[in-house]
Amino acid sequence: MTQTAILIAAPGQLHPTLAEALRSAWGGAPLRWLAPGEAAEFDLPEVPGNAGDVWRDLQGQGIDLAVVPAENRRKRLLLADMDSTMIGQECIDELADEAGVGAEVSAITARAMNGELDFEGALLARVALLQGLPEGILAEVLERRITLMPGGPALVATMKAHGAHAALVSGGFTAFAGPIAARLGFNESRANVLLAENGALAGDVARPILGREAKVAALEELVARLGIAEADVLAVGDGANDLGMLTRAGMGVALHAKPAVQAEARLKVNHGDLTALLYLQGYEKEAFAA
Ligand SMILES: [Mg+2]
Repeated sequence: MTQTAILIAAPGQLHPTLAEALRSAWGGAPLRWLAPGEAAEFDLPEVPGNAGDVWRDLQGQGIDLAVVPAENRRKRLLLADMDSTMIGQECIDELADEAGVGAEVSAITARAMNGELDFEGALLARVALLQGLPEGILAEVLERRITLMPGGPALVATMKAHGAHAALVSGGFTAFAGPIAARLGFNESRANVLLAENGALAGDVARPILGREAKVAALEELVARLGIAEADVLAVGDGANDLGMLTRAGMGVALHAKPAVQAEARLKVNHGDLTALLYLQGYEKEAFAA
């Protein structure tokens, strides 16, 4: 089955000589530039035996490499994690920082996202530390501390312009996922509901907790509703709770992910931003929407 190799770097960091050298070494078809100095691709008859070694070598040079089947690259469903994927922060860490328990909470977050702790237990332990915070803190943190990840608006807008459906599936909270999904143009979002009483956070979330299995369930449900195949799904995330959906999706991308996630994900983006996911699908930079 024909494969396509895609090389992606930060703007200006992908040199033609390097791209051409790899194409030549792998006996690939002529190089196509998706964005000069940033992303290029070529077809080849099969996945080269040394692809893993070449990937590691290129990582050291600031370049991401992916080899994907040449057929069906443009996906019809974008299934995206939120924290540290579509936004630059972990919302719970930012909330905890406001509450003065930042260090304690972010240490748990880091271990949970690397798969060292059970996701639900870790979430409940951290949420309990937020008990008593005024509910208004949610809107304040969203306004002052949360930033969109580079390339996210172009990713969502371009896929939607080509008919794809976009769903944000977060193990974080609806108070953030709703507004972020709306800002980015996602068709829908799912997340955990932070419970509050008398204007203060109750230190708990509604059940069932949206964790790793719920992200897989969202994939299954959306694939059925849209009448598409799992091969038509592009999933992206950075945490251990994303691995289920990443391994099921036709294209599952670990984005600047935790080490344990990178170890299991087939496709990894460590140097490009979210527009790398458009290059993986063969979109040229000139054709990006918004
Ligand atoms: Mg995340």
